[in-house]
Amino acid sequence: MDQLEKAGISPKVARLGEESEKRLAERFLKIDKLAEFNQLKVLMAFKKNRVSAECLSGTTGYGYNDMGRDKLEKVYADTFGAEAALVRGQIACGTHALAVALAANTRPGDEILSPVGRPYDTLEEVIGIRPSTGSLAEYNISYREVELLEDGSFDYDGIKKAINERTRLVTIQRSRGYAIRPTLSVERIAELISFIRSVKSDVICMVDNCYGEFTQEDEPIAAGADMIVGSLIKNPGGGLAPSGGYIAGRKECIDRCAVRLTSPGLGAEVGASLNMLKDFYQGFFMAPVVTAAALKGAIFAADVFGRLGFRVDPLAEDERYDIIQSIELESSERLIAFCEGIQEAAPVDSHVKPVPWDMPGYADPVIMAAGAFISGSSIELSCDGPLREPYAAYFQGGLTYPHVKYGILLALQKLYDASLV
Ligand SMILES: *Cc1c(COP(=O)(O)O)cnc(C)c1O
Repeated sequence: MDQLEKAGISPKVARLGEESEKRLAERFLKIDKLAEFNQLKVLMAFKKNRVSAECLSGTTGYGYNDMGRDKLEKVYADTFGAEAALVRGQIACGTHALAVALAANTRPGDEILSPVGRPYDTLEEVIGIRPSTGSLAEYNISYREVELLEDGSFDYDGIKKAINERTRLVTIQRSRGYAIRPTLSVERIAELISFIRSVKSDVICMVDNCYGEFTQEDEPIAAGADMIVGSLIKNPGGGLAPSGGYIAGRKECIDRCAVRLTSPGLGAEVGASLNMLKDFYQGFFMAPVVTAAALKGAIFAADVFGRLGFRVDPLAEDERYDIIQSIELESSERLIAFCEGIQEAAPVDSHVKPVPWDMPGYADPVIMAAGAFISGSSIELSCDGPLREPYAAYFQGGLTYPHVKYGILLALQKLYDASLV
């Protein structure tokens, strides 16, 4: 009996997986090459900055002269091609990092523009699209958005019209997140930024880089972005960072972020790193390979479920610029069974059964599967979906490719076991 069979996968399902892997061999090789490129990029940043054993132990209290923290920020900046970076455990999550970047770089009377449609859910309250205490709207910072065109292209006319003398900052989300729109490649972001600069040269261009890090050879700084922003419990934390976020970009933008994050006058010079640095460094070092595993797993899932006739987005053969995969399962029974399989494949809480629940802020019940070492981590294999048409499972992450492969096969096994395929 082989190992998959021992782990509960029938020969039929295992064979489907094997066929997909054969079809994807060349694609996987390209992703291995991408991982190699990015691994060396990270390693060279470590070497250039002479990361040493002393960098791995943190500070307490104010965190003055925290060499490890300061070097880590240089390593991030060099890897991403930026002048400076803030990489902090005190940044609570991706939303917090984005809120800091936005608030730090706008002033009352300014306007923020999103030229790629509605931003990620949690930013609605940050900006004040949905009224919320402390939003930027309360500080007289206004907001405008321009939808992408039907075919996913930029509405250049609309963007040109939307830019005015108050436009101070443009926010561009790289990943589709959980919306129905394409994820933007660094190349497309470059076109968009150069157009925006041709209309107004001094506007600050910020890219929400969540889920996008290390999915290409370049990061959006190479596309001309002034700031890129992300979460450490996604790609760049490599599954090891226990919490935190980053902002990288032009020094004057990052300096403004630092005084917003801590306090005017103190900036980046305070903020004890406690005992997180070793995991930040090691996680960033691992991140290119971990992200590649997640990419391969997403492509594997798209191929297996796509061949069974389910609508998947992106398609297995599509280029990818983030790690999110959706699979339309077309019934609540299938969505629930799929999530049960992902949960049962987890290294932590594999014995727990996920059930749909009424999540605050959502109109329909949502089911989630996650059994992660870091709570809420979405670079670890995790899955969720609202119980409504088309019953799409959104899944992402996976620290190792064999684990994602097994999770997908177990999810499919659950569908077979319940005669749902
Ligand atoms: C995850 C994510 C965020 C921030 O979410 P947090 O849960 O606060 O870390 C913002 N934008 C996008 C596109 C994301 O994927």
